[in-house]
Amino acid sequence: MEVQEVQLVMSAVSPTQYPTTGYPEIGLVGRSNVGKSSLTNTLINRRSYARTSSQPGKTRTLNFYEVEHQLYFVDVPGYGYAKVSKQERAKFGTMIETYLTQRETLKGVVQLVDGRHAPSDDDVSMYQWLQYYDIPTLIVATKIDKVKPGVRNRQTSLITKTLGLKGSTTELILFSAQTKLGKDDVWQWIETKIGG
Ligand code: GDP
Repeated sequence: MEVQEVQLVMSAVSPTQYPTTGYPEIGLVGRSNVGKSSLTNTLINRRSYARTSSQPGKTRTLNFYEVEHQLYFVDVPGYGYAKVSKQERAKFGTMIETYLTQRETLKGVVQLVDGRHAPSDDDVSMYQWLQYYDIPTLIVATKIDKVKPGVRNRQTSLITKTLGLKGSTTELILFSAQTKLGKDDVWQWIETKIGG
């Protein structure tokens, strides 16, 4: 998708504040500083549209970015959720849980992990949580320009293994906001999910 027009439509904390246009939505999750704003900006061809982590303020709301009057990117606030198991109901912020489990127009979630490291326990919990609720998920490994090409296969294996992606339908895309590596693949996944 070639994006010309984006606007931050709504910062919402409760379902009554969600947009009502019915456009499909793609949620973006990941711990703070993982590169979420940079990914969003790359996807929409902007240098600095989405907030960067250094700017406080909007971190506690769901931010809906309307793209080309076709879909929303929904910036879901950084992690802070509890560990989950199949027996134990997930408990991370009611707002986030409500959005991710009840929003009918949510077509998929892009979960960002830092491509330089093994996924953290929080990353694993988040991923398991999304799987538990059967939410179509794409894993994007960020900052991959910082990982030498010769080491990328090993990183891919590490992320695959730590998150338990093998045997699942979840795709993993290596991404760099700096080189734009992976940008088209991420868009392709999104377009498949939104039926575009
Ligand atoms: P957010 O908190 O998840 O929104 O993270 P940001 O997008 O604000 O990025 C956090 C920091 O990581 C910033 O200093 C970015 O410049 C840096 N960063 C993000 N993506 C990349 C990337 O693909 N490559 C490199 N080298 N740095 C990145």
